Amino acid sequence: MYRWATRADRRPRIVGVVRTKSRTLRFRAILGPRGLERDRSIEIAPDGTIRAVRAVHAGNAPYDGGLAVPGMPNAHSHIFQCALAGFGEEARGDDSFWSWRRAMYRLADSITPEQLFDIARYGYARMLRGGYTYVAEFHYLHHGADGARGPETTQAVLAAAAEVGLPISLLPVYYRTAGFDGAAPHEGQRRFAHGSVAEFMATVEALGPAVAGVAPHSLRAVPAADLAELVAAVDATLGPEASLHIHISEQELEVEECLAVRGSTPVDLLANTVELGPRWSLVHATHATEAERNRLRSAGARVVLCPITEAHLGDGIFPAREHFLAGGAAAVGSDANVRISAIEEARQLEYGQRLRDRRRARLATGAGAGPVVWSWLAEGGGAAAAGSGPAGGAGAPMRMGRIEPGYRADFVVLDREGPHTLGHDWETLMDAWLVGGDERDIEAVYVAGERRVERGSMAGEGEIRSAFGKAMREIWRAT
Ligand SMILES: [Zn+2]
Repeated sequence: MYRWATRADRRPRIVGVVRTKSRTLRFRAILGPRGLERDRSIEIAPDGTIRAVRAVHAGNAPYDGGLAVPGMPNAHSHIFQCALAGFGEEARGDDSFWSWRRAMYRLADSITPEQLFDIARYGYARMLRGGYTYVAEFHYLHHGADGARGPETTQAVLAAAAEVGLPISLLPVYYRTAGFDGAAPHEGQRRFAHGSVAEFMATVEALGPAVAGVAPHSLRAVPAADLAELVAAVDATLGPEASLHIHISEQELEVEECLAVRGSTPVDLLANTVELGPRWSLVHATHATEAERNRLRSAGARVVLCPITEAHLGDGIFPAREHFLAGGAAAVGSDANVRISAIEEARQLEYGQRLRDRRRARLATGAGAGPVVWSWLAEGGGAAAAGSGPAGGAGAPMRMGRIEPGYRADFVVLDREGPHTLGHDWETLMDAWLVGGDERDIEAVYVAGERRVERGSMAGEGEIRSAFGKAMREIWRAT
């Protein structure tokens, strides 16, 4: 019996609540597809999508908030890694990605479904508070600690998101081999691994409608023949629109091994094996060559950048400015979840480019950096989720990432009273938020037209926090 199963009296607040009436919210400004627009009302249909955006007479209404910007879709998360922040940091001669990965395996090896629920619930609550209004969970902790098959860990993750009201799509991860040479998974990977595409797809089908697509873990973990077979199986079971996400070209060593063993760099190998297209999200792509970046752009695929995690792991800096100027699409992911803040990911992205180039305003246009970077990543995140199924409820895929009719009414509302926005006007506020702000500048977060966070507070946060602390103590005392 799992703890959440005993909470039948506490109905999870499922997003996409069925309302019988539409409603209207008024904001002093919105960040629309054409930029900043003053004094707007947003009519929200009963299903939580935007029905209309209209001008209102300035000062002629009680306003529901300051500047509403699109909620940020989080296109890449491993929620259990919330428990890992601050572990594996010691220098032991080989202070690298690979030593962190060993610490991650230690955690993955021991965490129980009950602990995972408490860890995930706290992490997802922080996502909502940090400006994320959707998460694509790259889920690879499939099996029990003894390797036994069962849906418990997946149910824990889904229940955690439902309880805090964060829409989630599950991307079950296919993990077959330990390296490019096709070696069998080692002991630390037994909770991730499947022995064949058929076995994996049976797991996927058992998970039901929360599945938005599938994630072949990486080219290291999935042989080329399996990759082609996997895509065919996804087409047959989830449909040709289902999302496909993959970790790619994250570490230089990975690129070198791929070239040595498979005779090609990773993005080229992927594009030579499957048909790249808009359903593909390439996570990191840090070391993709210019030719590879051109190739993924012309296929309509996008990159998912995780700048805090990429900095944390010492991956390197993706040439985001070049990709941006070439018209490429990008989404953002909180990935290892060491720090969960959508604006801080955007800042790390922009600042990484500044440090590389020793120049300012790398992802900016005449409209400033804040609105441009935020809109770019929100739209890319919406595209990463598009075609990905229900995203939190039954029915057609929800469109996300814009304040425009037809899109889900997900907003982050900023005001001029935050520690980093105080004294700004609406036109400069997002630049101030980008260069220095954090979640304390957020007035409210709306998901599908429902206010989930107000001034940093959420329902039930005391219990969520203490359960996380307890789970952390149990996990790390036991390892
Ligand atoms: Zn990842």
